[in-house]
Amino acid sequence: MKKIALLLSLVLLFANCGTSQNVKSQKPLTAANFAELIRANDLKEMLYIYASDEFEGRRTGEPGQKKAIEFLKDHYIKWGIPSPISKGDYFQEIPESFFKGKAKASENVMAFIKGSEKPDEVLVISGHLDHEGIKNGKIYNGADDDGSGTVAILEIAKAFKTAADNDYAPKRSILFLHFTGEELGLYGSKYYTEVDPVIPLENTIADLNIDMIGRTDPKHDSNSNYMYLIGSNRLSTELHDVSEAVNKEHFNMVFDYTFNDENDPNRYYYRSDHYNFAKNNIPVIFYFDGGHEDYHKPTDTPDKIDYDLLTKRTQLIFYTAWELANREERVKLD
Ligand SMILES: [Zn+2]
Repeated sequence: MKKIALLLSLVLLFANCGTSQNVKSQKPLTAANFAELIRANDLKEMLYIYASDEFEGRRTGEPGQKKAIEFLKDHYIKWGIPSPISKGDYFQEIPESFFKGKAKASENVMAFIKGSEKPDEVLVISGHLDHEGIKNGKIYNGADDDGSGTVAILEIAKAFKTAADNDYAPKRSILFLHFTGEELGLYGSKYYTEVDPVIPLENTIADLNIDMIGRTDPKHDSNSNYMYLIGSNRLSTELHDVSEAVNKEHFNMVFDYTFNDENDPNRYYYRSDHYNFAKNNIPVIFYFDGGHEDYHKPTDTPDKIDYDLLTKRTQLIFYTAWELANREERVKLD
């Protein structure tokens, strides 16, 4: 809490430098003031721990995955971001039987920021916390997959919390949702949507799902100012338009829609956790870097992440979330 307040006061200090000495003339704060709190060093520091050998590849149900969920919970507690579950537990327990022999009992992790005007309407920001574990004695660190999305969610949550602490709480609530069991077959998101949606699905306005955003694929070697977006126009043209407008205003990144083509053989729209929301008529955007030679290999390590790029993409998703949570009406389905 203290650290957050300090960071913001530094931002304000800089914002005031050289502009005006009259504090009263200071403009109201905007999303940009909080997006600036998403920093490469913070992402890097967290990812070097989250994707370290100590976490043993975070295989669902195994000791490394338990370290991962404690890591997430500790950050939310440190930043004063509560759980949406009334008893205050950050973990959604999924019994072993649900994994059909593929894993022991495991947990989704969730944290929640309550909306100031429409608290019952909720935006989900999600990513998977698990990875492949240890195979043939080798640790699969999963720094990009999906360590990058995991630390992005943490930084976004921290930025929204700082905003809330400074009277800029989002109008709608935001649920930060870290799924387990993704690599084994989207089990965590399946459990959340089919068995125990902590927030009713009809009140869930959209899901922004992040799975691998820390690197550059071979196609974009010469210009890393890009991101693949999948799903944005499938259920809501308005969601797609909002996403495009936010990008134009802040980054003008190349949004590559190759994998959004309904005929694309990779079928990514159906292959990560967002699909369990889309199946329930909840519009989604899936953010993705396109993959690379270390995908699902023990060489997906944190030293290979481009932290400035990860920061920019995380800020872009933050701006998009800010707009979706604060606009007058929730995005409409087509
Ligand atoms: Zn993944």
